[in-house]
Amino acid sequence: MRQRPDTIHAVALDDTAVARLARELRGELIRSGDAGYEGARRVWNGMIDRRPALIARCAAPDDVIAAVAFARKNGLLVAVRGGGHNVAGNATCDGGLVIDLAPMRDVSVDAERRTARAEGGARWGDLDAAAATHGLATTGGAVSTTGIAGLTLGGGVGWLARKHGLTCDNLRAVEIVTADGRLLTANEREHADLFWAVRGGGGNFGVVTSFEYELHPLTTVLGGMVLHPIERAGEALRFFRTFAANAPEELSTLFYFFVAAPVTFLPPELHNRPLAGLAACYAGDPAEGEEVVRPLRRFGPPLVDEIRPMPYTEMQRLIDAGSPPGLRNYWKAGFLKGLDDEAIAAIAAHLARAGTPGPFLEVFQFNGAVNRIAPDATAFAHRAAQFDLTIGAKWTDPAADARQIGWVRDCYTALEPFTSGGVYVNYLGNEGEGRVRAAYGANYDRLAAVKASYDPRNLFRLNQNITPALPHGRS
Ligand SMILES: Cc1cc2nc3c(=O)[nH]c(=O)nc-3n(C[C@H](O)[C@H](O)[C@H](O)COP(=O)(O)OP(=O)(O)OC[C@H]3O[C@@H](n4cnc5c(N)ncnc54)[C@H](O)[C@@H]3O)c2cc1C
Repeated sequence: MRQRPDTIHAVALDDTAVARLARELRGELIRSGDAGYEGARRVWNGMIDRRPALIARCAAPDDVIAAVAFARKNGLLVAVRGGGHNVAGNATCDGGLVIDLAPMRDVSVDAERRTARAEGGARWGDLDAAAATHGLATTGGAVSTTGIAGLTLGGGVGWLARKHGLTCDNLRAVEIVTADGRLLTANEREHADLFWAVRGGGGNFGVVTSFEYELHPLTTVLGGMVLHPIERAGEALRFFRTFAANAPEELSTLFYFFVAAPVTFLPPELHNRPLAGLAACYAGDPAEGEEVVRPLRRFGPPLVDEIRPMPYTEMQRLIDAGSPPGLRNYWKAGFLKGLDDEAIAAIAAHLARAGTPGPFLEVFQFNGAVNRIAPDATAFAHRAAQFDLTIGAKWTDPAADARQIGWVRDCYTALEPFTSGGVYVNYLGNEGEGRVRAAYGANYDRLAAVKASYDPRNLFRLNQNITPALPHGRS
């Protein structure tokens, strides 16, 4: 029988076996009560408060192999942690073993082949910085502290996606420790079924110890944001719809709503005010980019125009300060069918009601090179999507949980009729099996078959979990 992904395994651990594992690891084994345990058990989302029995801070693939073997032998629940950013909090667990790749952050770049090989614990800041020293880049997450692992395995949306595809479309190979403890290379030639599955199927198939990416020449982008009063959100969205539809693939744009933090580049009168932003990144010739973004600068006119040429690595850190670790976070997401007037009116109405700091909403333009790849070419199924919607809230005081979560849920309920039914797996919370199926879409059954080949007993189940397909003839 399939075990529920959130089943807690409180296994009595044999001290001798634990001590043996600690000796075996090049990295560190942290137990409850050890110095460093409190920090090591935390993930980015402050809502998640779990207490694993053991945290294996792996320093090399052999450590991962040892940790996987230990979990299997002792029947321990396994969580796998890359950057620890996932909002669902599946990178930690109660009572089980966290396989934490934080010490494995090396990135090496082959400038001639235009590839980068990054260890499974690397963050986007690590990869972007290493690639930038050679004037290269690939599609990556927009916050530099996000792990490359979780983001790539779920698909990977970023400023370069319209031009170069999703992060997973730029993936050339992975090295992965599977549930039986083998270290496999998966690429188009070797274990091609597994390589297909890790490009959108999340962490279901093993622990990825390294990723190899294709890189593209890029140094400077024209990027940043313009800000408008929230009362103009509807107009801004209508402008965004037309502007995005006509934009060349060098340009990616994002509509976003937030309550402004008191940061230096904003005039004091905008601090703590709800604002409608249009962010953009032009990854091409900056002079041509100026022509392209001119309507964006003119629309309104904006309260603030912060679009300027900057190194791509700076663009990739632009919103870091707004996403610190430890805040309480709650998100709902979905792909919008389109952005018609009715959808825009519904979004604008909800933003007008948001009021106090915490709530945010983003609509990311989602097409170009992403849409040119067939929905079954990789496990990422949502190739026809045009706009990705994320509704969320971040706050500090647990007493505000109900109010903040309530706003997100109400807003999602109002906007759900305008969504396609699909959802980006990396923005999903713990929302039940129906939503997990919605995330993998038409690729679910094929993913379930690959899962059955590489993880038939569902060792890696703390994720947006795919049930291993039953062998033929069994039901
Ligand atoms: C502030 C913020 C900004 C974000 N921005 C973007 C963005 O611009 N684009 C985008 O596409 N997404 C974005 N995301 C979502 C992001 O893609 C997911 O949160 C992703 O899971 C983060 O990866 P991680 O390694 O940090 O996560 P973790 O929490 O460490 O891992 C998430 C899951 O991935 C799996 N996993 C992690 N590491 C491994 C590994 N080495 N091998 C196998 N499985 C593994 C596990 O199942 C784990 O539960 C953002 C998230 C946050 C919080």
